[in-house]
Amino acid sequence: MLVRPFASIARPRAGLCAGRLASRAHHNRRYIQTATVTDADIQRLAAKPLHPLTLADLCKHGRPPLSTQALFNSANFTLQILPSRLAHRIQSLRALPYIVVANPNVSKIHGNYLHSLSTLLPYAERKIETLKDEIDFTEVMADLVHTHSNTIEVLARGFLEARKYISPEEITRFLDEHLRARIGTRLIAEQHIALHFSSQAHKDLSSDHDHFHRTSQDSTYIGVIDTALKPATIIRNCEATVGEICELRYGVRPSVVLTGDPDTTIAHIPMHLEYILTELLKNSFRATIEAGMEKEPIEITIAPAPAAEEEQRSSDSSPRSSTLSTATQGSTPSTASPKIRPLDLSTPGVTLRIRDRGGGISPSVYPKLWEYGFTTFNEDEMNDKLAGGGGAGGMNALDVISGGAAGGSTLAGLGYGLPLGRAYAEYFGGGIAVQSLWGWGTDVYLSLRGVGRVS
Ligand code: ADP
Ligand code: MG
Repeated sequence: MLVRPFASIARPRAGLCAGRLASRAHHNRRYIQTATVTDADIQRLAAKPLHPLTLADLCKHGRPPLSTQALFNSANFTLQILPSRLAHRIQSLRALPYIVVANPNVSKIHGNYLHSLSTLLPYAERKIETLKDEIDFTEVMADLVHTHSNTIEVLARGFLEARKYISPEEITRFLDEHLRARIGTRLIAEQHIALHFSSQAHKDLSSDHDHFHRTSQDSTYIGVIDTALKPATIIRNCEATVGEICELRYGVRPSVVLTGDPDTTIAHIPMHLEYILTELLKNSFRATIEAGMEKEPIEITIAPAPAAEEEQRSSDSSPRSSTLSTATQGSTPSTASPKIRPLDLSTPGVTLRIRDRGGGISPSVYPKLWEYGFTTFNEDEMNDKLAGGGGAGGMNALDVISGGAAGGSTLAGLGYGLPLGRAYAEYFGGGIAVQSLWGWGTDVYLSLRGVGRVS
């Protein structure tokens, strides 16, 4: 069966040149083959054990430009782990109360997973061993990323509409598992797309050979991973984005002061760090503005993990505890994923402390911080607190999902920033801990563990 034309390709962001190559090389409309997915297929695939993804997995095919064989290996590795991941998601969606699955938004997501599985099944039981197959498979990966690009907004809307029929604890339990799994699925697909476009085998796909050489040979990237990622650069980019939103919507723009070691680099995924920092900065900027403290800069300290600890770590895999692990665990609701690991500041990598003077978090709000959909945001109140008041009218979460009553991005409102930010941080062994000094301000500790040495 042939389905809808393949119109747009995933564009990995954060300085990833492969994305631009992707859109150029695939401007020709193509058709993707699908196979019918039966319940037996789903059961069979979901019964396979899940492969826990590591940053090292994503780097194991070597530095670009990849040889043709290494590219095939990447495709086959991807093919080996994606179908069962999709089948698991379908099963867990089907396990929701019927009235929730029947919600048009939730059922749209279920349909998206079925579609993606149907595009992978034609590759089941065989290996990718020709360049043509590999090109077709990369199209399937691009379709997968594209199909699932707006999952968060759609699910947020679905659960908001269905909240009468399911408790906040159940929603958080489902979303935490689902969105964490989605991080991995998306990453596996994006990694193959990026490796494809920086591979020697497809050099001719790029009309811009200089560009190819820059991206594949001098680059610090391995696919979507930047092996020399500077958190300071991402912080400045996110500050600019969030500052813009504040200026446009509220006419004020808090500033960020960087302290610590701004030259620190780690091997990590820029897109992930960008997502987390944007959410944390939005929270700090909003609190600062609401408290009328925009004269006080938000202070971000970059603290690299000491080298000695790094060496020790590689010979000793037992995690050491840190004073912060209690803060993370203490703020973890019992409803959250049982897989949540305590924050371990002694692992190689970096810890960022984001300190604002926004008045802190009230004790009544504290236990709900990690609930998906919990927010104290109210556009009216926000405008009232600012001189002049009189906003564009009250805005609820549904307005936020559709881009805000007054259009454009908003500072808050979905209540997904902290829980999803933490899911991203924890995906590769990092974490987020929140420490509030009620009446004064908030410290957020974001720790990231790097991939270690990449050969
Ligand atoms: P949202 O920002 O959409 O409300 P989040 O998950 O990002 O969702 O945050 C949840 C709530 O936690 C916020 O509504 C706010 O009440 C509180 N919060 C988070 N960060 C801060 C902060 N730095 N200062 C004060 N309150 C905060
Ligand atoms: Mg937020």
